[in-house]
Amino acid sequence: MFSKRRTQHTVNGKTPEQVEQPEQWGRAWEVDWFSLVSVLGLLCFAPFIVFYFVMACDQYQCSVSQPLEELFRGEVTPTSIWARTASFSWTAAQMYAAWVAFQAFLYLCVPDVLHELLPGYVGGVQDGARTPAGLINKYEINGLQCWVITHALWLANVLYFNWFSPTIIFDHWIPLMWCANILGYAVSTFAFVKAHLFPTNSEDSKFTGNVFYDYMMGIEFNPRLGQRFDFKLFFNGRPGIVAWTLINLSYMAKQQEVHGHVTNSMVLVNVLQALYVLDFFWNEAWYLKTMDICHDHFGWYLGWGDCVWLPYLYTLQGLYLVYHPVQLPLGHALVVLGLGLIGYYVFRSTNHQKDLFRRSEGNCSIWGKKPTYIESSYRSADGAVHRSKLLTSGFWGVARHFNYTGDLMGSLAYCAACGFGHALPYFYIVYMSILLVHRCVRDEHRCSSKYGQDWKRYTNAVPYRLLPGVF
Ligand code: NDP
Repeated sequence: MFSKRRTQHTVNGKTPEQVEQPEQWGRAWEVDWFSLVSVLGLLCFAPFIVFYFVMACDQYQCSVSQPLEELFRGEVTPTSIWARTASFSWTAAQMYAAWVAFQAFLYLCVPDVLHELLPGYVGGVQDGARTPAGLINKYEINGLQCWVITHALWLANVLYFNWFSPTIIFDHWIPLMWCANILGYAVSTFAFVKAHLFPTNSEDSKFTGNVFYDYMMGIEFNPRLGQRFDFKLFFNGRPGIVAWTLINLSYMAKQQEVHGHVTNSMVLVNVLQALYVLDFFWNEAWYLKTMDICHDHFGWYLGWGDCVWLPYLYTLQGLYLVYHPVQLPLGHALVVLGLGLIGYYVFRSTNHQKDLFRRSEGNCSIWGKKPTYIESSYRSADGAVHRSKLLTSGFWGVARHFNYTGDLMGSLAYCAACGFGHALPYFYIVYMSILLVHRCVRDEHRCSSKYGQDWKRYTNAVPYRLLPGVF
């Protein structure tokens, strides 16, 4: 697939022969033992982790240790815990099917108009990044509009129509989890079979020969049904991320119903996470250039992860606050708000600097100065040589992934909003640290394969990944 056909382009004054030949870029071709064990571990345990946290809240007031202690003391068995847990229900299945169908309808049938109304917002048909096979896909960006329509309907229901209770999501939380799992496994299995039988673009498919790895990390790069239904864009953003803010609103309504008031911690979690979600949709066109869309293949990791892991574990703070209505002292609340906003600022500015720099091809100003950068080159699968630039000023001169640092600060703020009574709400920061450190290593491995010596020059110029002087 990575043909050796050469073209006569020159890059940085070098002929293709002089441009270092990257081994390969994109997802791995060979699976080492560590990756295989990690994949098997995740396939076996990730669904149990989700079940465990949700069950711990439902049956043990969000204590993560108590179920284990009772198991070890022999007071309960896995079977008795299972028997006490709400099971699949057809009501939840109908709700879930209606929800996914509604999001699919908005995604496919309501072309974006917001980009014509909101200055600065990029929506409508947009180009994705170049794939390893050299393809540039087109995407219909209408996530912000889907989010606005969905939330306007939610608000209209709460204020006027009363079709359903605003606590509906919380009230069916565990039955909905079984439905989300069914969809997550169905879509991952479908993607796996589709990659073998009718791939969208076989040039960008990758088979490692290891069935577990291929199932988990995906084979197809950009699977689609027809021209429009892009699996990654749909499952990554909707229904999971649109649901995130609705789930939090449902928790807030439940706190009001059970305790008669809404705590400042619940407001903080709702506001800070809504900022993150809105940022995601406002910048959806930009997300086409991030790792999920332009480097990862579509398998269980994205399919099941978007359907189950994201809505169930990213919203643990709100769930916890239904059971523990923490009212923070003013000082604590202000520190959480400050940390969340500074984290958001760092996250957004870092991402914005790279985007501005790449779009303007370096003809821009960063922190009031002309940016500095390292000229780099890489080769796509068709043998063509392309040039690129690696920014070394602004936040990209402080550390190689300062956007992740900002993301981690924001994540810590969500957790700290829940006080220090229990470990469960802190799962998020532990998970995000593992995710982003692993992502950092994965990304750097890919960039090193892609840019070769140019990447080495960049890491010499900016030696730290997340925190200068530490890592
Ligand atoms: P980045 O936006 O950091 O993109 C990494 C890519 O940027 C590299 O592969 C490379 O791509 C390019 N690049 C690297 N260094 C430079 C440089 N110095 N100058 C110019 N380009 C460079 O990573 P992600 O896509 O992982 O993340 C995007 C955002 O999404 C982050 O802010 C992250 O925190 C957030 N995120 C949040 C998650 C969540 O679950 N909440 C999960 C994952 C991400 P190229 O090949 O184009 O050179």
